[in-house]
Amino acid sequence: MTDTTARSITLIGAGLAGALLAILLARRGWRVDVYEKRGDPRVKGYEGGRSINLALAERGRNALRQADADDEVMEQAVMMRGRMVHFLDGRQQLQRYGRDDSEVIWSIHRGDLNIVLLDLAEQAGARLHFNHKLESVDFDARSARFLDERDGSASEAGFEALVGADGAGSSLRAAMMKRSDLGETTEFLDHSYKELEIPPDANGDFKIEPNALHIWPRGHYMCIALPNDEKTFTVTLFLPNQGDPSFATLRTGAEARALFERDFADAVPLIPRLEQDWERNPPGLLATLYLDRWHIDGRAVLLGDAAHAMVPFHGQGMNCAFEDCVVLARKLEQHADLADAFAAFEAERKPNASAIQQMALENYLEMRDRVDDPDFLLQRELERVLQERHPGRFVPHYTMVTFMLIPYATALHRSEIQREILVAATRGLDSLEAVDWKAVDAEIMSRLDILVDAA
Ligand SMILES: Cc1cc2nc3c(=O)[nH]c(=O)nc-3n(C[C@H](O)[C@H](O)[C@H](O)COP(=O)(O)OP(=O)(O)OC[C@H]3O[C@@H](n4cnc5c(N)ncnc54)[C@H](O)[C@@H]3O)c2cc1C
Repeated sequence: MTDTTARSITLIGAGLAGALLAILLARRGWRVDVYEKRGDPRVKGYEGGRSINLALAERGRNALRQADADDEVMEQAVMMRGRMVHFLDGRQQLQRYGRDDSEVIWSIHRGDLNIVLLDLAEQAGARLHFNHKLESVDFDARSARFLDERDGSASEAGFEALVGADGAGSSLRAAMMKRSDLGETTEFLDHSYKELEIPPDANGDFKIEPNALHIWPRGHYMCIALPNDEKTFTVTLFLPNQGDPSFATLRTGAEARALFERDFADAVPLIPRLEQDWERNPPGLLATLYLDRWHIDGRAVLLGDAAHAMVPFHGQGMNCAFEDCVVLARKLEQHADLADAFAAFEAERKPNASAIQQMALENYLEMRDRVDDPDFLLQRELERVLQERHPGRFVPHYTMVTFMLIPYATALHRSEIQREILVAATRGLDSLEAVDWKAVDAEIMSRLDILVDAA
């Protein structure tokens, strides 16, 4: 192992990935400086930005454990056992994510999580510089220029190497692109999102089942709601940008209420400030960012959303960013040369980031259009039976992505094979009684080997 005691690194962004990486590296003896454009959320309250709460899954928890942050984060987390599907006629159905309560996901507040990580980063010795927005980089002189947006004052700092944890709109990425073509492509989804709130009831309790991720699937669009530990829910409406209904046709709070009364009737009484929330919160854009290269020799590397922003429909963006941090910290420990470490990091993570980006796009269709579909439900039923018949060999897609640490690329590859098996075995059937078990078993044995978790 390399002696890293004298090595220094500069992180751009003290969001989720930046704060976690700061802990991991400072604990390993690195001299870590973190520059964040916003003010310190522990002083002036979290300024938010995007999605108020997030689904934390096993990959994210594994990374938090390595930073000794898991216990503290979990104190504020709310368990979500499965999807609570709200049908148009008002019926509700809980579809479990896993086999039991050992296979669940957790809703956490972005601001609370960020604060826990910032405290730990500082305790580990990282130096946090708030109100420092990266403006430009001189890669030859190894000097970065920052702006304090409160008064417009500028400052400069030298660096050994930069890590871009500054999110989807990364300034470091823009600076790197001026020096070297990273092969950037951004594909915007033609759907955006808007957040609304379900407050606690008159007794201060949750208004609806707290231990679930609520979904109102409506074909081309959908609403979801995730619980917060202060007994509220954050509701997110995902809607096309154009067409009817769309963000283009719903211009006012009153028009939004009319859509809710027609399509999400059981949610309307839960959201008393629907019009106000609608008019106050601008729609958020959704995009997938693809890069051919994530680093410039040993001078700069990107991770998290700055390297591979994805649409949020698998709830994996943060989980993936946290996994990036663990891998980068490991590569920095294994390689004395920064360029080698960054190259090894990119080689390991890029195929996996591409895989989860693809699965996240596919999951939108599943959530908004398939979770209330009989074919889909029959396939899920068969999936559970096959999981029992072939333990460790036939592992449901959601389990591989959410409850395991196997590479995302492996999960994608196996999911594609399994989907073919599920579709073929249930074609034309409305129950599992007529499934040709012999043929299905033979197919599984020949196409899937035993899956070993990376944990
Ligand atoms: C609607 C929605 C729902 C989501 N739900 C989930 C979910 O359920 N589960 C999940 O795992 N993921 C989810 N995600 C994805 C998740 O939010 C991101 O993947 C995650 O925040 C990425 O972390 P990051 O640290 O790379 O970037 P960010 O969290 O965006 O942090 C970037 C930081 O850099 C700072 N910064 C930006 N520019 C500069 C600059 N020029 N100089 C200095 N600092 C700068 C920012 O202020 C911020 O603090 C969701 C995303 C959206 C949009």
